[in-house]
Amino acid sequence: MLLRHTPKEITERSALSINPAKTCQPVGAMYASLGVHGCLPHSHGSQGCCAYHRSALTRHYKEPISAATSSFTEGASVFGGQANLLQAIENIFTVYEPEVIAVHTTCLSETIGDDLPQMTDKARESGKIPDGKHVIFANTPSYVGSHVTGFSNMVKGMLRVAESTGKKNGKVNIIPGWVEPADMEEIKRLCALIGVAITLFPDTSGVLNGPMSGQYKMFPEGGVTIRELKGTGDAIGTLALGDWCSADAARYLDSQFKVPCRILEMPFGLKATDRFIDALRTIAGVSVPEEIAHERGQLVDLISDMHQYFYHKKVALVGDPDQLIALTEFFTSIDMWPIHIVTGTPGKRFEKKIKKLTEGSPFPVNVRSAGDMFLLHQWIKNEPVDLILGNTYCKYIARDEDIPQVRFGFPILDRVGHQYFPTVGYKGGIRLLEKVLNALLDRKDRDDSEQSFELVL
Ligand code: SF4
Repeated sequence: MLLRHTPKEITERSALSINPAKTCQPVGAMYASLGVHGCLPHSHGSQGCCAYHRSALTRHYKEPISAATSSFTEGASVFGGQANLLQAIENIFTVYEPEVIAVHTTCLSETIGDDLPQMTDKARESGKIPDGKHVIFANTPSYVGSHVTGFSNMVKGMLRVAESTGKKNGKVNIIPGWVEPADMEEIKRLCALIGVAITLFPDTSGVLNGPMSGQYKMFPEGGVTIRELKGTGDAIGTLALGDWCSADAARYLDSQFKVPCRILEMPFGLKATDRFIDALRTIAGVSVPEEIAHERGQLVDLISDMHQYFYHKKVALVGDPDQLIALTEFFTSIDMWPIHIVTGTPGKRFEKKIKKLTEGSPFPVNVRSAGDMFLLHQWIKNEPVDLILGNTYCKYIARDEDIPQVRFGFPILDRVGHQYFPTVGYKGGIRLLEKVLNALLDRKDRDDSEQSFELVL
């Protein structure tokens, strides 16, 4: 009983978070930066923040995460961090030779009001940024928003290099949002099958799920290149997957370069993937290729074969808004009902959207943005569920309440596979359902009486 002090009675809290369902903005900014080829993320703040953000990503991806820091001490904290940042930019380009440095702020540099546009201008004017190299940046104060906000801010920050030549390049920008490297690979595969030329950004495939080659590479092969990012202003359109992670960048391209955008849900599950494939198909002006139709058919087949085990199962979901919205739609479409849904990221529109998606629910539904796992646990104590889907921190609730758990989201610290196997698209949907089904059936095998213990389903 690791969370034995969680009471069943719920008291409204506004100024206290217990077991947060989020982490801080720079973690998201750092993850997004790693999706740019040859990029070294730089944390403009003290060393402790940078060490924490790196370790959060290292523990999830099981890869070393390189990042630099402005290493604030008392002097920088009082007088500002400009001197530290200028020195850092010079050192990084001299020693590590990245193509681009992606600077994000921390609580400390935001609180003292460091002006990143002015500082990066100064770095350029004083010749600290070599020709052909780039410094991009994003403000990521962690006392507002969450890691999702930081991710979104850095994705928009990448577009500082975007240009418009006045001539369209025939490509579509796809902003995948915070999904796993394997998901980014899967999105590229689907686009290639349909025949749509894309620029995917950020793209962490090949960076955080690369092979062991026996050779250390400071900057792996993967990632969107600066050349590709420059071309985003000449694209024929943008598909942003997820309102929270990707919409700001898509709207920026629309307003600055007249690149029309569509905001879609992340393609988790049947319906969201249908919309994504349909958007691609429409852009390409082609029919859906047989290979993709085949994968869709397999997912539909699995849903109908196993429907009896999904039917009216109650689920608790915790994670990031874009993911939870798509997952809620997926679960309701197979007659599983998310009844407790928490995201740590603020934004009341999340609650509205989930309420709409769960309108036909046979059970009362609790949903909270800017919520925490303590509240989720209390809801579960009052109305138990058949499954929890969320990150590794859910395991404490799952253990205490004896509920099966499927690990999903960020961070996953105690399992592997999320780097390698996608959960987006139809194939990803099959994998996700396999995990859900296995969790439910393992529990059934454990709990069934001897008389009803079955060899065959
Ligand atoms: S001080 Fe702010 S930026 Fe640094 S680790 Fe804490 S929340 Fe994150």
